[in-house]
Amino acid sequence: MRHRTSRTLFLARIILVAPLVAVAGWAQAQTTEEASALYLSGQLDQLIAQGETSLRQNDEQPILHLLVGRAYADQHRFNEAVPHLEKSGQVPPGPDGVRAWSLGYLGLAYYYTNHPDQARTALAVCVALNSTPNATRYAQRRLQAYQLTPFFAEWKVVETAHLRLHFQSPEQVPALAQYAADRERAYQSIEATFPVPAAKKLDFYVWNNTADSRPVVQRNLGFAVPEYLLVNARQNQTRGHELAHVLVQHSLSPTHRSQLINEGVAVYLDQTATNRMQRARQLTRGRTDVWHLWEHPEETDEAVLYAVGGALLEYVATHVPPAQFRALLQDQRAEMHRSWLAPVVAAFEHELAQPE
Ligand SMILES: [Zn+2]
Repeated sequence: MRHRTSRTLFLARIILVAPLVAVAGWAQAQTTEEASALYLSGQLDQLIAQGETSLRQNDEQPILHLLVGRAYADQHRFNEAVPHLEKSGQVPPGPDGVRAWSLGYLGLAYYYTNHPDQARTALAVCVALNSTPNATRYAQRRLQAYQLTPFFAEWKVVETAHLRLHFQSPEQVPALAQYAADRERAYQSIEATFPVPAAKKLDFYVWNNTADSRPVVQRNLGFAVPEYLLVNARQNQTRGHELAHVLVQHSLSPTHRSQLINEGVAVYLDQTATNRMQRARQLTRGRTDVWHLWEHPEETDEAVLYAVGGALLEYVATHVPPAQFRALLQDQRAEMHRSWLAPVVAAFEHELAQPE
């Protein structure tokens, strides 16, 4: 997950006001200065430990609450971030930006703890305060990225155990409850292999068409945004493809991705009954060079790449131990797997070349 502004940017104004705190007491000012230094040098564990100790003695240190809350958020410990940011967010708005940044990070923490309405409110209030340009810009970007803008306010929301489905035109989706239940089942089926910690529900946006999505999210459908646990899909897209992108990413945090493997696993897990080998065979007429495709995906038609990737990943998943399959997904570079995977790839290419 990437949702950081630079540390210095965030602290620029807040450090300026730190000396003012000396009015309230030298010890307190010193703690705030130390905490800022720890934050800037990335010593978040130490900042949290010292900050929590100091706050137990004196809870009225808004800057310290903000720093500790931000440190927790940076470590993705959003539940622990919330009470600190709620506390620092109570200070009156001012040019120091303490209230604005508290609301900005509260937006982030609420979002990842499955409180989208509270996230929207905190971010909108931050924007309305308009107290520092950086904090305002930060909140505006979060509202866009999390799709919490007014554009989506009228969409119909249907929740399942793990999903929050948003429908642009629910009347165009026959059997809405069934549609949602199918996607919930797809989620559970993929998550059985790729478990993720329960944090927030996955937001699944069902659009009418790409012409509608393009001006709003600047991309063609469908696509997943794993770091925001969010999917934008066409109504008639497979149930599993985009969900697989999100779940594989969160379950394994791949260090390196490659298009053949990344798309291949999503096609393999798309939860359709497609005969993937047959489809790949049809599109390639039985001839493919997997290693070349892997290293030079840009030289191949996307439909071929997806079809071969899907068939390949299904083949590998059923021919190697699960631990090796996971290792392949974790580091998807061809050169990392050539030695052990070569016989499996050769067997796959041979199988692909068989007449139907
Ligand atoms: Zn994909």
